[in-house]
Amino acid sequence: MIEVSLKGITKSYGTHLAIPPLDLEIPKGKFVTLLGPSGCGKTTTLRIIAGLEKPSGGELSLAGRRAYSGDTAEFIPPEKRGLGFIFQSYALWPNMKVDRNITLALQQSKLPKADIAARLEEALTKVQLKGMEERFPSELSGGQQQRVAVARLIAARNSILLMDEPLSNLDAVLRTEMRAELKRLSRDLGATTVYVTHDQVEALTMSDLIVVMNGGRIQQVGSPYEIYHQPSNLFVAEFIGDPKLNLLEGDLVQDGKQSAISYAGVTIPLPNQAVHSGGKVKFGIRPERLTILEQSRPNTLMAEVDVVQPTGSQTIVSLNANGQRFTVLVSRFIESWPNKRVWLEFDGSAIMLFDNKTGESIK
Ligand code: ATP
Repeated sequence: MIEVSLKGITKSYGTHLAIPPLDLEIPKGKFVTLLGPSGCGKTTTLRIIAGLEKPSGGELSLAGRRAYSGDTAEFIPPEKRGLGFIFQSYALWPNMKVDRNITLALQQSKLPKADIAARLEEALTKVQLKGMEERFPSELSGGQQQRVAVARLIAARNSILLMDEPLSNLDAVLRTEMRAELKRLSRDLGATTVYVTHDQVEALTMSDLIVVMNGGRIQQVGSPYEIYHQPSNLFVAEFIGDPKLNLLEGDLVQDGKQSAISYAGVTIPLPNQAVHSGGKVKFGIRPERLTILEQSRPNTLMAEVDVVQPTGSQTIVSLNANGQRFTVLVSRFIESWPNKRVWLEFDGSAIMLFDNKTGESIK
């Protein structure tokens, strides 16, 4: 079932077309992330779903109900859309104590007082803020303020949750904790969540589906696995992955039914690739799919180790080979590499091919 549907939604600011016609269907109960660089239109898209921004045309439906139509000028205001929000600033009322911040919307509904009290109790317990109901937001840490915003969502029991970079003000440790908390919240509420971020780690760790956007256009909609391993074009391939994938240019050659890449005198057989017409192609390989060897073997590329960066459980190794910079991710702690001269082995099953001109993935 589709819970949020955008059909041909557009948004112009004066003569600037921020969102060219956009089609997107978000299934019920899924955690869907809009991901892309600054200015790609993700916040505008979320604000259109929220009703905080009026589109310039198209159609928007929420839970099967028309919320906006460019044809009929129908527009349901934000407060009547039955949505829950968490934005970057958490949007807490500074002059209201925690309990009132959590229940304000409920008090404006027709819900009986006892039910409101029960929901407050449940929400406070879930986010572990019991005992803090009498505090003002300024008397809480950033993480606790975040939890008040989460508690408000729990209490409201909305079936659609909208979140715009809710973790960007938190320090790294708290951000990792809150990632799990928001994912749990969304799952426990059975809610459909639309989450906006420019942080690929948030997108990969939290989402059922990722919508990668650039210049107002959707580049790919897919599971985190698909987005990471089967990017539909060069933009997605380069935007996702930290450290970035190694992007090279080579020749696609056919030998009978077997395809291979020929690059700097190295032949890399492609076990997973269908037969293609051949010629110059761009190809990418993720840093963890290159292996550093201490000795030469057939079809390995001689390289020179440049910088070694241990991150704890992994080490990022930068190398130079064939006049190009390579990055390899090794899954152990390495402080320094003993020999500068090494050889790189390519895992042919992990090679992603892209059309040299269009940058579209070659399947
Ligand atoms: P960020 O991550 O920086 O918030 P974003 O992907 O969320 O970026 P949007 O805020 O949706 O991007 O902006 C999309 C485009 O629309 C940008 O080019 C932006 O400059 C433009 N834009 C957004 N709001 C307005 C506005 N009120 N007036 C004019 N242009 C706007």
